[in-house]
Amino acid sequence: MSKLFSLNSLFSLPFSLKKGFSHGVHPPHHKEQTADLPIQRVPFVSRYIMPLGQHIGVPSEPVVKVGDRVHRGELIAQPKGFISTALHSPVTGKISNIGMHRYVDGSFRQAIEIEADPYATQQFVNTHNNVFNVKDMNIEQFIDAVQMSGIVGMGGAAFPSHVKYSIPDEQVITDLLVNGAECEPYLTNDHRLMVERPEAVLRGCEILRQKLNAKRVAIGVEKNKPESICQLKNYLTDDMAIDIVPLEVKYPQGAEKMLIKSIYNKELPAGKLPRDIGIAVNNVGTIVALADYFDHGMPLIERIVTLAGPGVQEPANLIVPIGTPIRDVLDFAGGLKEQTREVISGGPMMGSPIADLDAPILKGTSGILAFTEKETSRPPEYPCIRCARCLDACPYFLNPSRLALLGKARLFDEMQDKYNVMDCVECGACTYACPSNIPIVQHIRTAKDNLRNRKVET
Ligand code: SF4
Ligand code: SF4
Repeated sequence: MSKLFSLNSLFSLPFSLKKGFSHGVHPPHHKEQTADLPIQRVPFVSRYIMPLGQHIGVPSEPVVKVGDRVHRGELIAQPKGFISTALHSPVTGKISNIGMHRYVDGSFRQAIEIEADPYATQQFVNTHNNVFNVKDMNIEQFIDAVQMSGIVGMGGAAFPSHVKYSIPDEQVITDLLVNGAECEPYLTNDHRLMVERPEAVLRGCEILRQKLNAKRVAIGVEKNKPESICQLKNYLTDDMAIDIVPLEVKYPQGAEKMLIKSIYNKELPAGKLPRDIGIAVNNVGTIVALADYFDHGMPLIERIVTLAGPGVQEPANLIVPIGTPIRDVLDFAGGLKEQTREVISGGPMMGSPIADLDAPILKGTSGILAFTEKETSRPPEYPCIRCARCLDACPYFLNPSRLALLGKARLFDEMQDKYNVMDCVECGACTYACPSNIPIVQHIRTAKDNLRNRKVET
């Protein structure tokens, strides 16, 4: 039996909102464009591009060759090592090419191209014998199955989920924390998922809680999504050890460390993982992907993408087959306005510019946003006035002004040795807060790339 909750009762829940994280910023939400738009399905297009390395870790290894016929949901590339995952065809069709293709960042990466059958159907038929009795699986079987499902973190990071679930013997997970904060402006794909598929969210929570042997689940949702909170609570039953926790609306509430602080009032020490303090954190989209795989056998072949921003003709939330060229998705939504100057993947705070619209939608693509000159023109940069607003904004207690100064001087080693630049999560809160328009996060990204590359070379 589901319990009915009114909106007025939402904010008198077991977790106290007096808890929270210090610092952070309050950018405008801009979610009104798409928050109330039901999810629509994008029809199949003629060609799909599946990069082998669209997750963090080692790229997958093709198990098909040019000319092979494949069905929707069929394995096309297998994991190559432990930090790697499987890849499945989003469409029934023919392998037309395996070679280099443009990636969203403009680089060329190995990809499998599939020519779709003209009359292919999007209805998923479990013809690949993915039938599981997940309740009786031991943890090793569960981890193997997740790796072969191709599921990765759907919040944007695309970290293979099975790696996250491989908990060392000496560690115990007490809490599963589900991230439904969706604190990035414009994005509403997680919100619509919670509104339209609350049963799948709760089912995925139960599957993972049982497998990780966690005692409780908390789903954190920012308070600006009352409909999501209400829907989840409506479908909650007494036998579920799940709490729905409304969160303060503040950026970056959805960062792991901030969520943990807000919900459990625990500090995650620098360099530690949530599992080190007994917590497993998963995005709400990942949780639904688990439910879809273990209940219906559907691997990760599609995802919800928010299309928004002043440059998009018809903003929308869409179910998009992975591998669909971005241009085709935009065309489905009426295309771009003439005034569009920049298209980005992800949210405006942490997203990155798309270099080529023929690049595909990836497992980690949460949104495609288009902006006009008004939003993209960069105001003049002024010298630092030492106002400390960036320090007040940084939720990781770093010194962004110092990092920017050192970054400009390319003193990358000093940025790490004295100011822990690698602890920066690139949330962009400092850049947003800076009255001198200093592109602090860009300097930080350059430094981190440089330090990482040097580490690989040595
Ligand atoms: S220094 Fe890094 S973590 Fe701190 S606010 Fe700036 S981008 Fe975010
Ligand atoms: S917010 Fe900008 S101007 Fe103020 S201290 Fe930081 S870098 Fe300097």
